[in-house]
Amino acid sequence: MKKFSLMMVLMAGLFAVSACSNGEKTTTDEADKKLQVVATNSIIGDMVENIAGDLVDLHNIVPVGTDPHEYEPLPEDIEKATTAQVVFYNGLNLETGGNGWFSKLMETSNKEEGKDYFSVSQGVTPLYLTSTGQESEQDPHAWLDIENGIQYVKNITTVLADKDEKNRETYEKNADAYIEKLSKLDASAKEKFKDIPKEKKLLVTSEGAFKYFSKAYDLDAAYIWEINTENQGTPSQMSAIVDKVRTSKVPVLFVETSVDKRSMESVAKETNLPIYEEIFTDSIGKKGENGDSYYNMMEWNLTQIYDGLSK
Ligand SMILES: [Zn+2]
Repeated sequence: MKKFSLMMVLMAGLFAVSACSNGEKTTTDEADKKLQVVATNSIIGDMVENIAGDLVDLHNIVPVGTDPHEYEPLPEDIEKATTAQVVFYNGLNLETGGNGWFSKLMETSNKEEGKDYFSVSQGVTPLYLTSTGQESEQDPHAWLDIENGIQYVKNITTVLADKDEKNRETYEKNADAYIEKLSKLDASAKEKFKDIPKEKKLLVTSEGAFKYFSKAYDLDAAYIWEINTENQGTPSQMSAIVDKVRTSKVPVLFVETSVDKRSMESVAKETNLPIYEEIFTDSIGKKGENGDSYYNMMEWNLTQIYDGLSK
C-alpha cells in the first residue's frame, strides 16, 4: 500500500514535469530527440548498444551483477519506463516470474505489450523447468545459447528500426556485423566442445540456468536449485548435488557471478573438487572487467567451461 502511494506521487510529479516541458518544446527539439529505450537487464541493454550505439538514450533497469528474477524498481526506473518509447524485456518468465516486478512496472507506467514493450525472446523455442509442480513454467535463460542470443538481436533490431525509421539502415548494418561475430563464436565453441570426453561433460552450477547452453554445446547440466529464487540450497538439494557429482567423473565445479556462493563452496568441500571459475548467467560483468558485454560473457563462459572440463 505504502509503495503504491509513493508511485502515485511520483507519477503525478512526472506528468506535471512532462506537461510543462511539452509546452515549451520547439519542433526542432523534437526532431533531434533520441529514441528513449529501456532494457530490463544488462544483457539486453548491451545488445541494444551494439545495434544502436549512441543513437538512442538507454536505461538498464536491473544493475550489473544483480539477480533479474526478483527486483524492486527504483523511482528512476519508474520515471524512465514512463517516458520510454520502447521497453525491452526477456520474457520466458524471467521478469514476469518470481515477484512479477516487470508486469507491475508496465502497469504503473501505462505501457502496452507489442506497442510500447517487447519480449526479445519472441520466436525462441522455450525449454521448461523440470522440478515437480513447475513443469509448465518456461526456463528464461535462453540467451545462454548464442543462436537464441542472435534471435534476440534480430527482434531488437526490428523494433528499433520500426520505431526510428531514420536510423533503420545503421541499426540493420550494425546488427549484421554483430550477428556475424556472434555466429563465429558459436560455431567455434560447438567445434571445440566435441573434444571433451563424454564422462566429463557435466556442467555443475548453483542455479539450473544452463539448460539452453548445455543443449547447444552438448553437455549435461547439474545444479543445486533450479531457478534463482533462493539464496541457499536446502539440505535435500545439497545432498542430491553432492551425490550426482560423486557418481560422475566431472573434474571441476563452477559458480555464477550473480548468486550467493556459499552453497557451491559447501559442495566443493564435500566433494573435494575445486570451483574452477565464476561464470556469467543473468548479468554481464562490470565495465572493464571479464565478461563486460554479452559477447564477452559468452566467450568467457565457453572458454572457462571448456578449459575446466578438459582438466
Ligand atoms: Zn537466472
